[in-house]
Amino acid sequence: MARYSGPVCKLCRRENLKLFLKGERCLSDKCSFERRPYRPGQHGQRRSKTSEYARHLREKQKVRLMYGVLEKQFANYFRQADKVKGVTGENLLRLLERRLDNVIYRMGFALTRRASRQLIRHNHVLVNGRRVNIPSYLLKAGDELTLRERSKKIKCFGEALEAKERQGFDAWLEMDIKNFKGVFKEIPDVKGLQLPIEEQLIVEYYSR
Ligand code: SF4
Repeated sequence: MARYSGPVCKLCRRENLKLFLKGERCLSDKCSFERRPYRPGQHGQRRSKTSEYARHLREKQKVRLMYGVLEKQFANYFRQADKVKGVTGENLLRLLERRLDNVIYRMGFALTRRASRQLIRHNHVLVNGRRVNIPSYLLKAGDELTLRERSKKIKCFGEALEAKERQGFDAWLEMDIKNFKGVFKEIPDVKGLQLPIEEQLIVEYYSR
């Protein structure tokens, strides 16, 4: 299945949740979800019954869209999460949080995960001093991320970092903003992230 390239605000409205897919606009009063908090389309404002299956499906789609992962890859993450010790839903979120595109976004080098993927694909990122251009690359605790010397001069990266600095960084990241450097100190505790996700519903979706 190809990656979705249509209007992303519609996705937030369909999932009834702000997925933060448009960077700073999401925090402004221009946010479509704030202005029209109902499903898109002609019948979007109608009330409709939600089946159990739909609840499970929507939860899975919500997380998949939030992290920008395709269907097949998401199912693979679930299989991987199911194989390791611990609570499967939490393992799944931990895997998603370890993705390079997610960490670059959380560090503030890009305003959205989509922009972060582009930044990685265009060879701007170094992991422990080596170029990595795979957005799904899974980081380990202690990995150091930085931008290439040439890339540090690109204005939009600095602006994105400044915007993130204003919001504040997660405790599991150590940032050296001056040098465009960040350390992925540890795999985050997903409970601490306070994501609006009921991961158990995803587990039930795949356990049908
Ligand atoms: Fe979603 Fe609002 Fe951001 Fe659009 S602006 S992607 S509706 S959070």
